[in-house]
Amino acid sequence: MSDIRYLDWPFFEERHRRLARELDAWAKDHVPQHHGADVDAQCRALVRALGADGWLKHAVAGLPHGAQDQVDTRAICLIRETLARHSGLADFAFAMQGLGSGAISLQGTPAQRDRYLSKVGRGEAIPAFALSEPEAGSDVGAMQCSARIEGDEAVIDGEKTWISNGGIADFYVVFARTGEAAGSRGISAFIVEAGTPGLEIARRIDVIAPHPLAQLRFSGCRVPLAQRIGEPGEGFKVAMRTLDVFRTSVAAAALGFARRALDEALHRATTRRMFNQTLADFQLTQAKLAQMATTVDSSALLVYRAAWLRDQGRTITREAAMAKLTATEGAQQVIDAAVQIWGGLGVASGVTVERLYREIRSLRIYEGASEVQQLIIARELLKDITATSRDRPSAASPTDQEPI
Ligand SMILES: Cc1cc2nc3c(=O)[nH]c(=O)nc-3n(C[C@H](O)[C@H](O)[C@H](O)COP(=O)(O)OP(=O)(O)OC[C@H]3O[C@@H](n4cnc5c(N)ncnc54)[C@H](O)[C@@H]3O)c2cc1C
Repeated sequence: MSDIRYLDWPFFEERHRRLARELDAWAKDHVPQHHGADVDAQCRALVRALGADGWLKHAVAGLPHGAQDQVDTRAICLIRETLARHSGLADFAFAMQGLGSGAISLQGTPAQRDRYLSKVGRGEAIPAFALSEPEAGSDVGAMQCSARIEGDEAVIDGEKTWISNGGIADFYVVFARTGEAAGSRGISAFIVEAGTPGLEIARRIDVIAPHPLAQLRFSGCRVPLAQRIGEPGEGFKVAMRTLDVFRTSVAAAALGFARRALDEALHRATTRRMFNQTLADFQLTQAKLAQMATTVDSSALLVYRAAWLRDQGRTITREAAMAKLTATEGAQQVIDAAVQIWGGLGVASGVTVERLYREIRSLRIYEGASEVQQLIIARELLKDITATSRDRPSAASPTDQEPI
């Protein structure tokens, strides 16, 4: 493990410190640095390994299924940060077990929790979170996928895209328009098991840091109403509650990538000889390293502030957005600086900083692009102001259109 002094911060309890240290040791032995071409097989293998050795229990809530009765945001963030330092795919495998089943952890019925969470926590079932659509990414309220109620079934029609674990998932948490109200107030969430007639994988999507990703098509896909998560029309709230936890953990993953990049930069700068000294002897390099370390620490403070606050039962919309914005944008800069320090080798395929350069990019887009995080932070700020100033018009009053 690189610099672990942050584990002494007051955000953590002893179990968190132990968890981070034990996982780091486990990852050194169990997580390959390089993955082969079959990303689906590698992802399944990582889920099995993480499940078999007990790490996935932290991705789900409810004591019969998970390590804690409630979602432990700090544990999830420490695990994502640690795994991301070792391998983006290992982080992805863990994160999706949590994001894909998060709505069930937070708002599932006892029967839904019993049916799905234990298997997810043991790595025996792979979930997915299906919100985005070709015409509804940041603007979730533009969702077109629909579910009409017929007797005790919902019939789903439409498309979902950019669905991580698409193709390998055992079940999908699908958000569809049920029409109780306009915009995002008329959306409900349903669990759809893979193999349900009417659900097909329309196409695989390849991205710069490969992981299982697909577009889904629903054509008259029938699911029992018992598979609905939360109340009718409350699906948007279910999605946002899930994202409050996992948005913070995206920031933690970015932090893990940034820490690894800083480690790699320090190693290269102190060993690369030029002009009769090392690269690290130059003040221009020292300035880069100082900025990288400062960015890493500021990101870590925001990540673990948000995680700690959520574990105290607080609403963290603003704090999670600040953590994600700062940690993902900051990690991009830290990794870019690490590539620069590595010189030509920094862009050679297979070199760690080159892999990090590809892995960080999509974190600034998914679960709410950086611009969306800025809007959320500003909206929360302005909401506070209008709440305390009776004379001001409520220009920034909350709407039902929170973009992701
Ligand atoms: C690798 C990857 C994995 C993903 N996994 C999943 C998943 O598992 N499940 C799922 O449901 N979705 C997933 N997504 C989808 C992801 O959440 C969307 O890509 C994201 O919400 C952005 O939507 P979009 O791609 O349609 O971009 P758009 O909504 O078209 O936005 C394009 C760009 O516009 C800018 N922008 C957005 N809003 C504003 C604004 N108000 N003002 C100014 N600029 C703005 C941002 O820079 C944004 O990147 C994944 C995406 C990627 C890339």
